[in-house]
Amino acid sequence: MKAEIISVGTELLLGTTINTDAADVAVLLSEYGINVYWQTVVGDNPGRVAEAVRRARERADLIITTGGLGPTCDDLTKSALADGFGIPLELNREEEAWLRGVFLERHYRPLTPNNLQQVWLPQGSTALRNDWGTAPGCYFEHEGVRVIMLPGPPGELRPMLEHRVRPILASLSDSVIASHNIHFYGIGESAMEYRLRSYMEELTNPTLAPYAKPGECLVRVTAKAPTVEEAERMMAPVIERVCREFGELVYGIDCPNLATYTVKLLMERGVTVACAESCTGGELQKCITDIPGASAVLLGGTVVYTNAAKTSLLGVPAALLEEKGAVSREVAEELARRVREKLDSDLGVGVTGLAGPDGDGEHEVGTVFISLADREQVWVREARLTGRGRGLVRHQACQEAFDMLRRYVSGLSVCGEGGAV
Ligand code: ATP
Ligand code: MG
Repeated sequence: MKAEIISVGTELLLGTTINTDAADVAVLLSEYGINVYWQTVVGDNPGRVAEAVRRARERADLIITTGGLGPTCDDLTKSALADGFGIPLELNREEEAWLRGVFLERHYRPLTPNNLQQVWLPQGSTALRNDWGTAPGCYFEHEGVRVIMLPGPPGELRPMLEHRVRPILASLSDSVIASHNIHFYGIGESAMEYRLRSYMEELTNPTLAPYAKPGECLVRVTAKAPTVEEAERMMAPVIERVCREFGELVYGIDCPNLATYTVKLLMERGVTVACAESCTGGELQKCITDIPGASAVLLGGTVVYTNAAKTSLLGVPAALLEEKGAVSREVAEELARRVREKLDSDLGVGVTGLAGPDGDGEHEVGTVFISLADREQVWVREARLTGRGRGLVRHQACQEAFDMLRRYVSGLSVCGEGGAV
């Protein structure tokens, strides 16, 4: 089955509203193995909406429209669609009675005549009751093409998809699509893709698709099968093979990101952390505290940006700073060790480096030392995060710290094989 999504709204063309509706519709269609071949965006113009509908009729078996079902004069999707299909609109008495009731109930006033526009539906269509707004959607089939019309506001569209559209799709489709994401740290998307290429080409169902995210990457495994259970059974050996191939570079499956994964892992294991940050200026602690429940993990920490702060707050010897410089393995070691001792946490993390854009005349911009201390030992990773802006250097430095933490807690070698990507 070939589907086309037609999103109606001039605001979508202008870019002032992001077309989240089309994304939501597409995600649901993919769950039922229905291929979306086209997404069309068209402004609130009757002629152009009708033209888009005529074009979609020619090439798709299922058309889903979003937006323009409301009571105002720019809500013209139904009349333009009726025009594109050459069928008249008719007043749906049942929806009219419902709408009148809703107005009395919710607004304590009778509805104005323009509101009735919402309950004129293409002849022969089934109304899709909108319990989250006032404009009903509708569903009909005409000359082999199925059409579903949905309201534009995302707060109405999403429950309509779940409660009205899902049952229709389930009745149309004989397969489901399921997927899992395998997350990597310490390898770039292109290197990962290169290692997987021949396997990816071999596979037809399930399939593998690589994706890059800031500072990490993932591969999505997707299977199409008659049931979710069957799709899971088909994906299991593929997931296992990818995990085996990449070993420690895989940090998790279906996680939001490395920071969330790591903080949850620390929570589960009951491990506490303290941080001393120089070039990240508190970003590492912000990332940790973004995650609910972080107080079980982060005891506290400092931002020690200047040499004077490193000495007065943490007692890093001035002579060491003088001799080795603030951006050094030795100072990184001191940061992690001293902040851990001060707060008596299980682990201490230190970050010192050059985020740029100006250098210090000695190190290349992007040189960052990230350290991790437990009660016995200190590890330091030197990352060369060159060729990227200040924001990315700092973000990546935090990623490195999370990677060291997750490796420590998982019993892997802390400095690892990968390092910054
Ligand atoms: P209403 O009854 O509120 O008029 P409607 O079905 O007529 O709903 P529109 O008038 O097209 O829908 O859009 C209403 C609001 O919904 C828009 O202001 C916009 O904020 C949001 N919206 C519309 N289409 C989309 C879309 N494709 N993606 C995200 N938001 C959308
Ligand atoms: Mg509207």
